[in-house]
Amino acid sequence: MRLADLIGQTRAVAALRKAILQDRIAHAYLFSGPEGVGKSTAALLFAQALNCERRMPDDPASGCGECRSCTLTARGNHPDVRLLTPPDDGETSVIPIEDIRRGFAYDINLRPACAPYKIYVLDPADRTAPLAIHTILKALEEPPSYVVTILVTARPALLPPTIPSRCQEMTFQLSGTEAIEHHLLTLGLEQTTAASLARLSGGRVALAIRAANRPEVLATRKALLELCADLHTRGLPAALRLAEDIKRHARALARARHEETGPEVQSDDRSEESTPATTAPADRTLRSELPWCLDVILSWYRDRLAAARSAALFSTPTIESCSTPAEGPTCAARKTSPLKPSWRPSTASSTTPT
Ligand SMILES: [Zn+2]
Repeated sequence: MRLADLIGQTRAVAALRKAILQDRIAHAYLFSGPEGVGKSTAALLFAQALNCERRMPDDPASGCGECRSCTLTARGNHPDVRLLTPPDDGETSVIPIEDIRRGFAYDINLRPACAPYKIYVLDPADRTAPLAIHTILKALEEPPSYVVTILVTARPALLPPTIPSRCQEMTFQLSGTEAIEHHLLTLGLEQTTAASLARLSGGRVALAIRAANRPEVLATRKALLELCADLHTRGLPAALRLAEDIKRHARALARARHEETGPEVQSDDRSEESTPATTAPADRTLRSELPWCLDVILSWYRDRLAAARSAALFSTPTIESCSTPAEGPTCAARKTSPLKPSWRPSTASSTTPT
């Protein structure tokens, strides 16, 4: 993948490519924007482009992706590209102060081992040990000429104001649904699934790709949609159990991730009864899956609302159908609107997206 291939980030990519082509590289960048829109990928591709050993004539502003420098950067093994991240996904986990000091107080003064630039990527920069801020500020104020620092964050407001003011900011946006759908089609997904996942992603391409690459995600999405579609036929008790059902599906997703990535999640529901020390990582992972499950349901509800509105628009209410003049000519549509909540069995056909 080249910098130019980043999905839905035309403005940021154009600015970065222009900087490379004009050889006007800033000493520090702030990549900000919502989660999952490609900021981390952009930092990696920008680092590849800066240190590429074999830039191609047809696209000199991108890394080739194949030379030794590009390959080492992609693997996280380049001696001159340092990725500083928190040790785990926990929200309270921060980039250790030892890593910051080792990088910005010592390593930064050593010239690059084998590349034009020494590049530091802090991702996410808003999760940095508070005591390390002074060290970072000093490095941003008086950097050696060969150093480029990239701070990646979805929450720039959490950074001390003195940090963004020393960086060139690149803002990343939510991607268009069509662009994400097109990308999913290139990955081999069938049209209906690609369109649905693109819509569900809410413009976050990483979320769409994650869903496309994990069969259990697609299976969970299908189960959640069936759950919602059948809810009105199963009565109030089922509705009251909805939260538990959603949690069960989120737990299944968390368990699948555990099998992929390691012992972060307990293997069964008894984890909730374990000691706090052992449940904390499991609960964190479970909570990380819940928003996605809720997004699936929100997407279903949004589709259902759109279908209901379309039905109301294309119906032809008449004055005669109103019970009182004060209700006006649209009351017929309101009376029969599927938007009205009801737990009774309905004869309306399901609008479950596929
Ligand atoms: Zn290269």
